[in-house]
Amino acid sequence: MKVIFLDIDGVMNSGPYVWGGPVARGHGLHGDEAWADLIDPAAVAILNQLCEATNAVVVLSSSWREPFARRKAAFRGVMASRGFRGIIFDHTPLGQECEGHTGQRGFEVALWLRRNPDVHDFVILDDSDGFDGLRDRLVRTNPAEGLTYAEAERAAAILRNEAP
Ligand SMILES: [Mg+2]
Repeated sequence: MKVIFLDIDGVMNSGPYVWGGPVARGHGLHGDEAWADLIDPAAVAILNQLCEATNAVVVLSSSWREPFARRKAAFRGVMASRGFRGIIFDHTPLGQECEGHTGQRGFEVALWLRRNPDVHDFVILDDSDGFDGLRDRLVRTNPAEGLTYAEAERAAAILRNEAP
């Protein structure tokens, strides 16, 4: 299994997208519709291509996994409503599972990988840096742009073990 650890803010959206859309409209939506409104379908289309090209599944590593931890189907629905056609397989560990490392995404990803030892090919899409030993697997997006095709191509190369 190939895995994409997916951040949402700064990856599936960008500052201009959020400020120009949901914020400019004064939000005005509630519940899962409000969450969906924050996801840019253009970024989802790029993620679709990456998933289809590599047969990778998504593991949510974003802080968004917290509101959706007990509502996985709801998160899948939010992503599907923005056009996502791939598989959302799981999310990285949360809270006390992380034993004092809460909020350290590199630790959370490493812990998930320890629990899923059959996973060898993975990439991390995130606009932040905090992945220490996993930095060669990180494709860091620009939060002003969100996920780009060039970044998705780099991620595909990592998933295919073709990265330089
Ligand atoms: Mg982010």
